[in-house]
Amino acid sequence: MTRRQMLASVSGTLALSAAPLGARPESPSAGEALAAGGPESFDLLVAGGRVIDPAQNLDGPRDVAIRGGKIAAVEQGIPRSQAREVIDASGKLVTPGLIDLHTHVFPYVGPYGIEADPYCVKRGVTTVIDAGTSGALTFAAFRRYNIERAATRIRALLHVVAIGMVAGSTPNMGELEDLRYCVPEMAAKVASENRDLIVGFKIRFSEQYTGSNDLEGMKRARVAADTARLPLMIHIGGSYTPFEEFLALMKKGDVVTHSFNSHPHGLLDSNGKLLPEVVAARERGVLFDVGHGAGSFSFDVMEKCLALGFAPDTISSDLYSANINGPVYDLPTTLSKFLLLGMKLEDVVGRATVNASRVFNFGAPIGTLAPGSEADVGVFELAEGEFTFTDSDHKTRTGRQKFVPVVTVRGGKVFRAA
Ligand SMILES: [Zn+2]
Repeated sequence: MTRRQMLASVSGTLALSAAPLGARPESPSAGEALAAGGPESFDLLVAGGRVIDPAQNLDGPRDVAIRGGKIAAVEQGIPRSQAREVIDASGKLVTPGLIDLHTHVFPYVGPYGIEADPYCVKRGVTTVIDAGTSGALTFAAFRRYNIERAATRIRALLHVVAIGMVAGSTPNMGELEDLRYCVPEMAAKVASENRDLIVGFKIRFSEQYTGSNDLEGMKRARVAADTARLPLMIHIGGSYTPFEEFLALMKKGDVVTHSFNSHPHGLLDSNGKLLPEVVAARERGVLFDVGHGAGSFSFDVMEKCLALGFAPDTISSDLYSANINGPVYDLPTTLSKFLLLGMKLEDVVGRATVNASRVFNFGAPIGTLAPGSEADVGVFELAEGEFTFTDSDHKTRTGRQKFVPVVTVRGGKVFRAA
């Protein structure tokens, strides 16, 4: 059974077959990699852990050897003497470095952004997408003062509105209330000039950010995405216009985030059934992401969707200033919520590794531990006990397992959990 069939059999989703493929690693054989060595032929060895790499359909005891910032070998019984540094991962889970497709890591400009590293690379998350904190007028500062200085690999979805998320709804200054800031040609130009870092576009459709302009914003977002030939992520929940009207303008490879919120105009109709437009959109390759956030993830809605066979394609946190102290905390906590909802461990990990890696072009082989990939590795304790988790509607549930970050490797460099 292929990985995709395996995912499909569990979740009923095949949508990722439609996602654009990112760069794939070259794969020298492990034997070749090992043969290259004598003593200390590896820079680092993550030894003795349970390796889960859904991209390779791998779940078992393995050692992960790293050389020159890349994965060199994933084998059993690699002698510790062959590595300059050893991380003992006995009793721990070892995964590809996690990928969070929805965060806000452009701090000091507006109310949302946080510093990435304390919440990401120190907690098992090696790559994040900033989902629209910056726009055409602010991206240069994001690039220079944040992305280029962070240890976490950051890629950006440029907000179609040129000011990005400099204000929120509290001062009643939603970014799409004044359409003069929404110039698709401007967004497409900045994206085209920064293709190494900008991997798509973002736009938000909740009434407090748009007034009655949301559908016009969607049309302009479509123009920006088509002009730059990049995917588009839309934020849903509580929109002025019904969700179906946005969906009609979404194409294969575009992403819906906040998919499982409990606000009006979501995926479900008043009888708790999936809108036919949602089913059709998944069939044509539109992707459905979690984007937990402070207001956008409901255990009840997620549970109903799982029961209908509609699992998320990707699991992301929507980490920002107002949720880092709960209910989100970080991506590992968000992933833990899916274990309590009954999703299998490998399917949870897959949605924040291989699946996420295929949504955007990250320009590097990530999301897997296949030899030749970036040496991005997460080491977690899968803690057992009774843990209380809270959704965005302040509803709590008890889980029996929790991902606790221990060590992260990013490009071969080691970060201990804070
Ligand atoms: Zn967000």
